[in-house]
Amino acid sequence: MKTEGTQTFKPSLTIKTWDPKIEPAIFQKWQEQGIYKFSKTSKKPTFSIDTPPPYVNIPVHIGQAYTYVWMDVFARYKRMTGHKVLFPMGLDKNGLPVEVQTEKYFKISMHETPREEFIEKCKRILKESGDQSLDTFKRLGLSCNSWSLEHKVGGRYETDDPEYRRLTQQTFIEFWNNGLIYEDEKTTNYCPVCGTTISDAEVEYEEEETELNYIKFKLQETGQDLIIATTRSELLCSCRTVIFNPDDERYKNLEGKHAIVPIYGNAVKIQSHPYAKPEFGSGLVMICSFGDYSDVRILRELNLDPVYAIDPKGKMNSNAGRYSGLSVKEARKRITEDLKTQGLHVKTEKLVQRRPVCWRSKNPIEFVPMKEIYLKQIEFKDALLCMADRMAFFAPESKQILVDWINSIGIDWVISRRRFYGTEIPLWYCKKCGYTYVPHTGMYYQPWREKPPIDKCPKCGSTEFKGEERTFDTWFDSATSEAYILGCLWNKTFFEKNFPCTLRPQGKEIVRNWLYFTMLKSHLLFNKAPFLNVWINMHVVDEEGRKISKSDPKTWIDPQEDINRFGAEAFRIWSGLEGNITKGDIRYSFERVKGTSKFLTKLWNIARYISSFPQASEGYRLAPLDKMILAKLNGLIRECAVGYEEMNVFAATTAIRTFTWNLFADHYVEAAKSRAYNRDGTFSLELQRGAWFTLHKCLETILKLLAPISPFITEALWLELYSKESIHVQNFPKETPEWKSDFIELLPNFVEFNNTVWRYKKSRGLALSEEIAAPIYALVQLEPLKEDLKAMHKITNLAFGKPKNPEGFDELSEGIFAAK
Ligand SMILES: [Zn+2]
Ligand SMILES: [Zn+2]
Repeated sequence: MKTEGTQTFKPSLTIKTWDPKIEPAIFQKWQEQGIYKFSKTSKKPTFSIDTPPPYVNIPVHIGQAYTYVWMDVFARYKRMTGHKVLFPMGLDKNGLPVEVQTEKYFKISMHETPREEFIEKCKRILKESGDQSLDTFKRLGLSCNSWSLEHKVGGRYETDDPEYRRLTQQTFIEFWNNGLIYEDEKTTNYCPVCGTTISDAEVEYEEEETELNYIKFKLQETGQDLIIATTRSELLCSCRTVIFNPDDERYKNLEGKHAIVPIYGNAVKIQSHPYAKPEFGSGLVMICSFGDYSDVRILRELNLDPVYAIDPKGKMNSNAGRYSGLSVKEARKRITEDLKTQGLHVKTEKLVQRRPVCWRSKNPIEFVPMKEIYLKQIEFKDALLCMADRMAFFAPESKQILVDWINSIGIDWVISRRRFYGTEIPLWYCKKCGYTYVPHTGMYYQPWREKPPIDKCPKCGSTEFKGEERTFDTWFDSATSEAYILGCLWNKTFFEKNFPCTLRPQGKEIVRNWLYFTMLKSHLLFNKAPFLNVWINMHVVDEEGRKISKSDPKTWIDPQEDINRFGAEAFRIWSGLEGNITKGDIRYSFERVKGTSKFLTKLWNIARYISSFPQASEGYRLAPLDKMILAKLNGLIRECAVGYEEMNVFAATTAIRTFTWNLFADHYVEAAKSRAYNRDGTFSLELQRGAWFTLHKCLETILKLLAPISPFITEALWLELYSKESIHVQNFPKETPEWKSDFIELLPNFVEFNNTVWRYKKSRGLALSEEIAAPIYALVQLEPLKEDLKAMHKITNLAFGKPKNPEGFDELSEGIFAAK
């Protein structure tokens, strides 16, 4: 036994440093072993994550890379705490972005290309970009259940898959049969660039500098000039009324009189309305059909018929008279010039205003009348507000985004789109009598190219049908993702047992559509909240706080490039240490990724050092120093569990880093070094083994705690040092009751003592390894650590309490004395 204590120790970990180049091989091994596969038959409770299917036609956004890492951490933690985790990879492929890209790439226009051909071209683009996105997600080390497209629980899914579209159509057919769908001609948001109606949830606001023109109208009754300020002179032809604020003394006498519209010469009524702000422009406002939402609202309220001035292509129509055929911009310019020549233009002011734009194309939207298909939602607002209360939000305050949105909804959901690459609306119309045929569920239908599944019209007997050509709003597809991933199409028993889905993680910018619409559909289909928990993330922005966008090369960062440079683990540990993305935006900096990844080097070095010593599972005795750090390790386990449970990866990662680097490596490992080597036999073999036990127990626990965040490095070290079985199938550490110890109270004094002695040695020009001959006094509480402290700092003469002759000593810091 004696040889065991005095042997020479060499690291069993032969590789000297962490090398990110081995990450892909580790990932490959996970796939071969199938350790993340979803097992329906396992008896463990299910933890299901409705991962946001990223849109595939751009390289993966740095924000997606960051948030997917966090979702992966949630999945890995839940796996280690006894759950079977449903963590599917999905790709969203429907809708406008790919259509726009296809038009650009092939230099064609969708509405002028045969539909079949256009769809084929979209598919070619999607294939390439889809593969690229998957590569990035694999490179990040995500523990998704499967990477291949499979029609089963846990399989990868795509929203343009006929199977996925079958579900979308099925939900529509059920809504139709339940009287929740109707068609109506209303004023809708229309994007001339995308050539389609869009819902309120797809409208964004952009700040724009524009010109506010002061124009002369005439009062019909007296001929006096009325000055009205407007940013949209081109809409003069559609002016339906002029309003002023009821409190505006200047205009009280105008109530009920009439204003003559310049250029067009027609008269419109003047009336008071609280929407007019006395301080804006002249205080008089022209209400057109339609310049903005307020116009829509006010005309509806005053029961005035709109006069539309803009056609669906974004050009002025015949109502605009001589400006007909011009684009909105050209018309505005020309009409302003004409007003100037006629002396009807007073002045121009610059104005910054928020204007509504299409969230996909960023083009200003217009308001046009369109016959579209609607899903009822207004009448369910209260039910959805109650539903919001039944889901837990992380962070809790993000629920307000949803509540505000629900409260603001004023119109039913327009679900039809005039586009090609989307799920078809499954309807046919009888050409003779107009009867609408809705098919049965269970199939995927393409009415624009297929005959209906009936021979003749049940109403008139005609055999001639016209298939519906419109597609669904893509949110109508993605708002059923939670039901799809839980297998509602293929496994009713599993679905019923596991619905609602455990977690929906998603961005704050899609609360009003993805989250809200999923709740709406879930309410109408299942009468249940779709999720137990909702995790809402803010954004990753660039170093200066700017939004990172592919279209702005100044800000664009391709995560794949930085991952190739530093490794996925560096990116992952950075995303854990940078901040809590549910509380605010995260700034991305290449330097910070590089900086935080130093922790990986540190961890490797500690592990390599500890690998020099055997693991003592018996015959050991713990020194007070060991008991102190093990008690603290218990605390770390608790802190990490709380962080992970609250889906706050930042809290867990920070706790692990602080413990591992600032306490364990810098203080404990240094203090236990002499005992672990025990070169001169100062310590008993039992105490030496106590150091070995503690070193390994701490390292092993750190690796497990860190495994969800840094799956590669922890796996590499774990397999090298502790087991042949992956760290990712191990149980998450639990606190050990026997490690509870009052010695934990000594920690701050212990750290302070070390720092003081190190400073003292430095000031005396002593190397850290050199002996201190002068007598040193430490706080009396530290006496239990005496032998380790003496050996650690090579203090020949260490005493506790206060020196008897204080005048012969310097007080280095409170309670620590060194002889003069
Ligand atoms: Zn658009
Ligand atoms: Zn018919």
